Amino acid sequence: MSYTIASNLKQAIKILKESDGKAQVIAGATDLFLENLPSELVDVSAVPEILGITRGKDFLSIGAGVTHAEAAASSVIRSEAEALSEACRIVGSPQVRNMGTLGGNVINAAPAADAAVALVALGAKAVLTDLYGSSREAFVVDLYGGYNRSSVDSSAEILMRFLLKPAQRGEGSAFLRFAPRAALALPLVNAAARIRVEQSLIKEARIVIAPAKPAPTRLLETEKLLLGAKPGLDLWQKVKSTASSEIEVRGSMLRCSEEYRCHLVGVLARRVSQQAVVRAMEAE
Ligand SMILES: Cc1cc2nc3c(=O)[nH]c(=O)nc-3n(C[C@H](O)[C@H](O)[C@H](O)COP(=O)(O)OP(=O)(O)OC[C@H]3O[C@@H](n4cnc5c(N)ncnc54)[C@H](O)[C@@H]3O)c2cc1C
Repeated sequence: MSYTIASNLKQAIKILKESDGKAQVIAGATDLFLENLPSELVDVSAVPEILGITRGKDFLSIGAGVTHAEAAASSVIRSEAEALSEACRIVGSPQVRNMGTLGGNVINAAPAADAAVALVALGAKAVLTDLYGSSREAFVVDLYGGYNRSSVDSSAEILMRFLLKPAQRGEGSAFLRFAPRAALALPLVNAAARIRVEQSLIKEARIVIAPAKPAPTRLLETEKLLLGAKPGLDLWQKVKSTASSEIEVRGSMLRCSEEYRCHLVGVLARRVSQQAVVRAMEAE
């Protein structure tokens, strides 16, 4: 097996190109090392072009090589994209957060990958570059190609960064998950929300839950219910019942029954929306 630690993007692309489809990108290795490894690996975790967190005028740019630990510690991410900060804080364990990257979390394409769920709720776009230097942008949700399958071929494209709209006035976001243990456990359900309020009315809402479909899934009926509504007990009851009935979820012998997961979807959708609204009102 050959393993090269690329020191820049040019070198990573050169190796991928010369390997003729045999080499694959690797970052923190927390997912890829559990699989059958390809014969050639290009480690991009030190490639400067995919690192760093930048706050531009109209966007927040987060490198695909940023680790969960770096994202969790970033004051910029906490103030501009709190849902992502909360998601990264809860991934795995300190060791996993120190090695695992946001890019790997998305490309590994687990339906309930924590950072991916937050990125989808935040409406993040991914920027990718191919082996000929052409760039493309795609919504994170569109990088899912099926259950545990990415639409990105990591021998032919490199995920460079994520672009997000920074939090606007009157906007708040939140992430929550329910798992059998506080650490090192896959979530039974996770949820993220991004909500904007204006004069105490909800003007925009994105609520995402997982696992339901191959990719993190927006609760469109619940979002409709929230639009134009004034937050209050009655609304939160309706959010819970609408969320738990609007999409099909699967049960499993090992994890939990379908009924229990439906119940959790309702509870988490309500709590995460409430939390995002509280933050949105504080930012009004
Ligand atoms: C013990 C343990 C606990 C875990 N707990 C959680 C958890 O609680 N929540 C959670 O969401 N995840 C969890 N994970 C999964 C994992 O840590 C994350 O998905 C992590 O973010 C993957 O990132 P990585 O850099 O390690 O990816 P890698 O393993 O290096 O790569 C994963 C995939 O992404 C591709 N890839 C990586 N970077 C790029 C890039 N820049 N461009 C193109 N392709 C790329 C690789 O080719 C590979 O296909 C856990 C894993 C372990 C081992």
